[in-house]
Amino acid sequence: MLNVALFGPPGAGKGTQSEYLIKEYKLFYISTGDILRKEIQNKTKLGIEAQSIIASGGLVSDEIIVQIIENTITEHRDSNGFLFDGFPRTYVQAYILEGLMIKLNTALNCLISLRVDEEISVDRLLQRGVTSGRSDDNEAVIRNRLKEYNDKTLPVLEFYKDKGICYELDGILSIEEVHNNIKKLVNAELSKSRINFVLFGYPGSGRGSQGKALAQKYGLEYVATGEMLDAEIDKNTPIGMKIKHLYENGELVPDEIVIQLIERKIATSADVKGFIFKGYPRTLVQSYILDGLLKKHGTRISLIMDIEVPTLELISRLDKRSKTDGCMPYDTDTAKIVKRLFDHEQKTIPVIEKYNQLHGVTKIDGMGTFDAVFQKLCHVIEKKFPSLRQ
Ligand code: AMP
Repeated sequence: MLNVALFGPPGAGKGTQSEYLIKEYKLFYISTGDILRKEIQNKTKLGIEAQSIIASGGLVSDEIIVQIIENTITEHRDSNGFLFDGFPRTYVQAYILEGLMIKLNTALNCLISLRVDEEISVDRLLQRGVTSGRSDDNEAVIRNRLKEYNDKTLPVLEFYKDKGICYELDGILSIEEVHNNIKKLVNAELSKSRINFVLFGYPGSGRGSQGKALAQKYGLEYVATGEMLDAEIDKNTPIGMKIKHLYENGELVPDEIVIQLIERKIATSADVKGFIFKGYPRTLVQSYILDGLLKKHGTRISLIMDIEVPTLELISRLDKRSKTDGCMPYDTDTAKIVKRLFDHEQKTIPVIEKYNQLHGVTKIDGMGTFDAVFQKLCHVIEKKFPSLRQ
C-alpha cells in the first residue's frame, strides 16, 4: 500500500493535485472536506453537527473526523493505498491516523506539504468562490480558515518532521511543476516499498513459466534479461543490432548493455509493486550490479527463491522440449543443453551461495506439476508478504 497525505493551507492546490495523483497511482482519495460536504447535503446527523462549524471556517471535532475516516478506510482496505487531503488537520488527528494505519497493517509513507503565502491562498480561494458554490469561500471565512490552519494545523508538520516523512514543496509554482515535483517524491516512495524477487533455477526447472505466472498473479514486472535481449533484436533497435552482431560472432553480451536494459525497465515501470528477476544475475559480477541498480533506485532484493530439480529430470525435460515447437534456439541439441547446465553450475551456483549467506535463499522443490510448484512458490511469497495475498 502507498499512503500519502497532501498538506497545506486552504487554497494550496491540494484538490487539484489530488485529481492527477489518484489517476496516476490508483489511490483511494479521502478528502474530509468533501465527505463532510456530502454529509451536509444529505442532512445526516454528522452533517447537521458539522454545518455551522464549516460555515464559520472552524475545524470540525476530532470525534466526527475519526468516524468518517474510519468508515471510509475500512470500506476500502483493499485499495492500492490512500491519498489524504485535508487530514490530518490537528496534532490529535496525526495520532489518529497512526492508529488507523496500524489497524490496516500499513503506514503513512509520506506527508507532502505545499507551501503557499497567505495572500496567494486568499486570492486563489476568492477566485474559486466565484464558481465553487462553497459558502466558506468568502473573505471573512477564508481568513478564519487560515487562522485555524496557522494555529492548529501547521503544528502537525512537526509530528511528521520528527518521523522523517515530511516533504515540503513550493506550492506557488505552476500546476504542472508542482505535479512533477510531487511525482518525484511519490515515485521515490514507491521504489522504497517495492517487493523484488529473484528466481533462480537450472535451465528446465520451470523458472521462466513460473516467474511469468507469479508476476501476473502479484502485479509484479517480470524481468527476463534473455527475453529482453531477444526483443531488442526483433525490433532492430541500435542495441539489438549490436547484440545480434555479438551473437553472430559467438561473443557474450557485455554487462553494460544488460544494465541499460534493466535501468530502462525500472525507469518505465514507475507504478509497479516490484520486479521478478529471472535469468539475472547469472554471475557474481551481475549480482553486484543488480544490488547496485536496485540500491540506486531506492529499493533492494526482498526474496530469493531457487527451484530445485534433479539433473536427470532437467535433461529429460530439456530434451523433450527440444523436440517440440517450444524448442529454444539454445537447446537444439544435447551438447548445447549440457553446456547450459554446466554454465549454470560454474557461474550461477556461486551467486546463489553468496545470496544464501547474505539474505538466505528459499529452496523450492521443482518436481511435480506446474500448479503444484506454483502453489509452493505462492505459499512462500504470501507467508513473507501477507499484503500480496488476494
Ligand atoms: P476543505 O475542503 O479541506 O477545505 O475543508 C472544508 C472544511 O471542512 C474545513 O474548513 C473544516 O471546517 C472542515 N474539515 C475538513 N477536514 C477537516 C479535518 N480533518 N478536521 C477538522 N475539520 C475539517
